[in-house]
Amino acid sequence: MSKKILLIDDESNVRLLYKEELEDEGYIVYVAKDAKEGFEKFKKFNPDLVILDIKMPEISGIEALQKFKRLKGSIPVILLTAFGEYQYEFTTWAADEYIIKSSNMETLKKAVKQLI
Ligand SMILES: [Mg+2]
Repeated sequence: MSKKILLIDDESNVRLLYKEELEDEGYIVYVAKDAKEGFEKFKKFNPDLVILDIKMPEISGIEALQKFKRLKGSIPVILLTAFGEYQYEFTTWAADEYIIKSSNMETLKKAVKQLI
């Protein structure tokens, strides 16, 4: 059975690129454009892992992270952010990984593989 990933990012190019790259690794990837849609798809598809952008309109990735962990304590969550954002605070968050967005996908793929 392929593992299921829910990818939440407000940027369509990120969703497209990451979905394609992760599907090439053999995962089933669901995408959502914001946290609200993410919560709906989380309930509908029961993913094995969530990849969550931090900077999104309305509900931030940090807020969404708390809610995912409340919904399912064992769900691994990887936080994504752009270079230079939030680097000082991230250790206090309950994420399983914190990854800086880059066109090199190897760090993300490695983290996904370790977590599921
Ligand atoms: Mg964003």
